Amino acid sequence: MSAVVTRFAPSPNGWLHAGHALSALTAFDIAQRNGGRFVLRIEDIDVARRSPEYVAAIYDDLAWLGLTWQEPVLVQSEHFTEYLAAADKLIAMGLLYPCFASRAEIEAAADPSRVDPDGAPLYPGLWKKVAAEEIKNRLETGDTPALRLDMDAAMAALRAKIGEMPLTFTEIDENGVARTLRAEPERWGDAVIVRKDVPASYHLAVVVDDARQGVTHVTRGQDIMPATGLHRLLQVLLELPEPVYSHHRLIRWSDGRKLSKSSGDMGLRSLRQEGASAEDIKRAIGFS
Ligand code: GLU
Repeated sequence: MSAVVTRFAPSPNGWLHAGHALSALTAFDIAQRNGGRFVLRIEDIDVARRSPEYVAAIYDDLAWLGLTWQEPVLVQSEHFTEYLAAADKLIAMGLLYPCFASRAEIEAAADPSRVDPDGAPLYPGLWKKVAAEEIKNRLETGDTPALRLDMDAAMAALRAKIGEMPLTFTEIDENGVARTLRAEPERWGDAVIVRKDVPASYHLAVVVDDARQGVTHVTRGQDIMPATGLHRLLQVLLELPEPVYSHHRLIRWSDGRKLSKSSGDMGLRSLRQEGASAEDIKRAIGFS
């Protein structure tokens, strides 16, 4: 088996909170216990929301927690051409189509009872079967489309590759016990693979970069678990290696609310300024 590589991949559009600390510490710990490597990735494709101040705070907060990582850090906004190259492969396979619909148009046309795992309305196929002529006319107006995955075609392409075998992923629990779970990419419908506003998407960039950084063990919060199904589909279609996954529990307020980056909930900076030590944080999140 190849050496273990884990990663922490925060988005610099807010301060890190206790939930991020758990993600980062989990990944670091798995690398350490297996004599592996821990890498860092700044997921800043959302260029309108990222800020250099948040990037600097990520390095600062992680060092304060006692973590060290391999250089160089991968900064996603420096790699848009590579995400587009991966999208080109999917285009060549006939699996992406342009979509000019606005969020409002999608909401108006969608069936409110059908939502994706993030709770967003499932795309109602507005631009799925549109004539090439209409797409050309729209492109000539200077409009940029999103590129969506034709999920039916993608599942057919998957079948051509793996036959009737179910698409699965390997989940490793907190005790190190592995189980095989079924991946359900269909739950996302015709997901956006290249956004309108930036030439990438979270789903595309994450699979390209996990492969590029040689990540063998993806660790992240349970809230992202449904995305793993879509990531497995993209990995098979793009012929990328399959990592194993651990989805850790989420840190919540005692009334069950999720922590929020934007409102600064349990921000590592503010806890530190209030006098908390890294050990205090580790203890509070059950990691010591
Ligand atoms: N960038 C994502 C976030 O900050 C994490 C994505 C991942 O770990 O796959 O929520």
